[in-house]
Amino acid sequence: MTSDFVYQEPVFNFHAKNTVLRKVIKAVDVNLVVKVVLDTSALFGLEQVPPNWEAYVTEGVLAELEKYNDRRAENLLHTIKVSQATTASLSKVKEAARGTGDSSRLSKTDMEVLALALELKAALATDDYSIQNLASVLGVEYLPMNMKGISKVVRWNYLCTGCGKVFKEPQPDCPVCGSALRTTRRR
Ligand SMILES: [Zn+2]
Repeated sequence: MTSDFVYQEPVFNFHAKNTVLRKVIKAVDVNLVVKVVLDTSALFGLEQVPPNWEAYVTEGVLAELEKYNDRRAENLLHTIKVSQATTASLSKVKEAARGTGDSSRLSKTDMEVLALALELKAALATDDYSIQNLASVLGVEYLPMNMKGISKVVRWNYLCTGCGKVFKEPQPDCPVCGSALRTTRRR
């Protein structure tokens, strides 16, 4: 995470998918950081964690990743924090799941991911419809990763503010001239 990003609560609107996409793009352009909790499905749909995401997963998601033994996911984890929701948040999620009838469709890991997003006031990146449904009920904003174009959208370039050279991978500073790098959208 580069330090020139300013943290802001996520402002995604979960009822309008295109709006979600626009907000994610916009947040990068204006250097705002958004908190995002990722479930396993979202991690697999993501090539790179967008530079303005303060990204979180739970222990349960980690365990699922280990099961799949995915190399790319392993690389993503360098830029993701691991955290766990409190039992109080988890109880709220379980209660809401009983109310909507989603209990049987959601795993322990699903519940924990929802609880963490609720607790951190983060957006939840997930492609699971049951999780999305319960997220709406809980007022947790969610971000589907399987939208048309999103895989294209979440690719970034790193532009040197000194020599203007463009890098596809994040670097602490420009390996050519040592100047600071700026994140730009890959077009
Ligand atoms: Zn440079």
